[in-house]
Amino acid sequence: MTERKPLMAGNWKMNLNHFEAMKHVQELAFSLNDKDFDAVDVAVLVPFTDLRSVQTLVQGDKLRIRYGAQDVSEHASGAYTGDISAAMLGKLDCAYVVVGHSERRQYHGETDALVAAKALAALKHGITPIVCVGEHLDVRKSGEHVAHCVEQTRGSLAGLSADQVKASVIAYEPVWAIGTGEVATPEDAQEVCAAIRAELASLFDESVAAATKILYGGSVKGANAAELMAQADIDGALVGGASLDAADFTRIIRYR
Ligand code: PEP
Repeated sequence: MTERKPLMAGNWKMNLNHFEAMKHVQELAFSLNDKDFDAVDVAVLVPFTDLRSVQTLVQGDKLRIRYGAQDVSEHASGAYTGDISAAMLGKLDCAYVVVGHSERRQYHGETDALVAAKALAALKHGITPIVCVGEHLDVRKSGEHVAHCVEQTRGSLAGLSADQVKASVIAYEPVWAIGTGEVATPEDAQEVCAAIRAELASLFDESVAAATKILYGGSVKGANAAELMAQADIDGALVGGASLDAADFTRIIRYR
């Protein structure tokens, strides 16, 4: 069986001023140790304006905190005012970028096709895209959540090769659980993550399904991380609110 090292990724969203951001990364760095990094990959996904400083803080550092951005342009370069390219993120040594977060889908009208184009742009520059999928509450209530997430996964990975999917991370984030304190039950989260993995096997093959990390996101905290991580198809967490608290994010990283 393929060993999938867990990934705990903190999505700061549009929070923390620059000084708070630097303090937070340092607090995290001081609270984690080699044992933590041996067991779990740790990443912070920060506003663009913090990237250079985070790079400086963790550069050459044995603490091994990885970092990345929360969005990327699908374009390589050009007249796209306000956008940031994957080449620019690559220059800043970003390891990850979130693509298709439900807040981008909701407030910026991002479609599956656009999300796939952004994932491809990131991969071209050696950046791991964290591709987000997840259903709204009405879809969950209608019982169509599995089909919906599988369909979103297919659309958001359209055009990626088997190797590119293996080099990506998928995050299942039920929209009704994001920032609401209402976490999915471990069984509910497992149901969708398992269906996504099965879809990878059918789109590609078992080796892709076995190698690709699938995270759960939606009100993950230190108090509920262990039961989510006990599920066979959950390989880590995309954490919003709780990642802004270094102590709780550390508890999530030490979920065992
Ligand atoms: C997120 O922003 O991706 C998220 C999961 O947020 P929260 O943990 O606050 O629900």
